[in-house]
Amino acid sequence: MRVISLVIPVFNEEKGLDILYKAVCGVINKREETFELIFVNDGSYDGSLEKLLNIHKSDPRVKIVDFSRNFGHQNALSAGIDFARGDAVILMDADMEDPPEKIYDFLEYWKNGYDVVYAIRKKRKVGVIKRTLFALYHKLNTIISDIAMPDASGIFGLMDRKVVNIIRRIPEKNRYLPGLRAWVGLKQMGLETERGKRYDKNPRVSFAKLIKLAFDSYISFSKIPLKIASFLGIFFSFISFIGILVIIFLKLTVGIQLRGWSSIIALILLVTGIQLITIGIIGEYIGRILDETKNRPLYIVKEIIGFENQIYE
Ligand code: UDP
Ligand code: MG
Repeated sequence: MRVISLVIPVFNEEKGLDILYKAVCGVINKREETFELIFVNDGSYDGSLEKLLNIHKSDPRVKIVDFSRNFGHQNALSAGIDFARGDAVILMDADMEDPPEKIYDFLEYWKNGYDVVYAIRKKRKVGVIKRTLFALYHKLNTIISDIAMPDASGIFGLMDRKVVNIIRRIPEKNRYLPGLRAWVGLKQMGLETERGKRYDKNPRVSFAKLIKLAFDSYISFSKIPLKIASFLGIFFSFISFIGILVIIFLKLTVGIQLRGWSSIIALILLVTGIQLITIGIIGEYIGRILDETKNRPLYIVKEIIGFENQIYE
């Protein structure tokens, strides 16, 4: 009997867990595979853990990995991947944005030999500004990345055990899992998926954290941002060289003394601004190198519940 693991990170989702559990059961109870539901409680300070413990009591398929504190979405998913024993692992969020019915399609493709099946978001049910920013982010990601980065896809998807084992061996600290999943290669398929609506109005991943995630994906999979400094340097050197020639020419021919205090100030501000931005970009790379050298674990587990009789390497 094939085992499928569902990995679901939870951060203060007390009110949504029942809705999610019901919706997921509506799908998995119809299947012949054996399922395990791994909820990773990422330092919730509401009643999420109590809720999960209750669900676990009535359904032994439900297992809980309880963190010592909040370690973030990507690390919670990584922990779920580490604890999963399934022949395939499905990652999904707890907020109903990832429609559980899609699991049918994921399993179908997996049975037909695909190693990775993931959702491509057709349309996000969020405001226009956020949607435009997401679209820009994904477009830039596909343009600058060293690998074929899938457009508009997040973590929602299925990975075969082969892929899971490879991802578990990647020691990277500032993780962008959709990128790492694409980096593995093998046989992958993206399925267009209508995104559901969050059961409440407050995303748990803050805007600042989304920006950090965007930087993680750009920096982990591209060195192009590092080259911006060289490109801009060459560009400005070229402009200034032309400018010098023009000034010398005007001085020697018509003898004009060029004036322009304000334009000089504007130029100085522009160029120093650009210099600081490029130093900042280099800083983003250095910060991540520091995280790699510190080599701290991705997460600390306080307790695991429901994993009896399971052996972990
Ligand atoms: N989440 C988490 N740790 C965090 C933030 C979020 O485990 O620090 C979980 C959250 O409970 C949800 C999933 O990660 O199940 C995605 O969060 P959210 O819906 O806020 O992200 P978005 O869909 O806006 O990217
Ligand atoms: Mg969400």
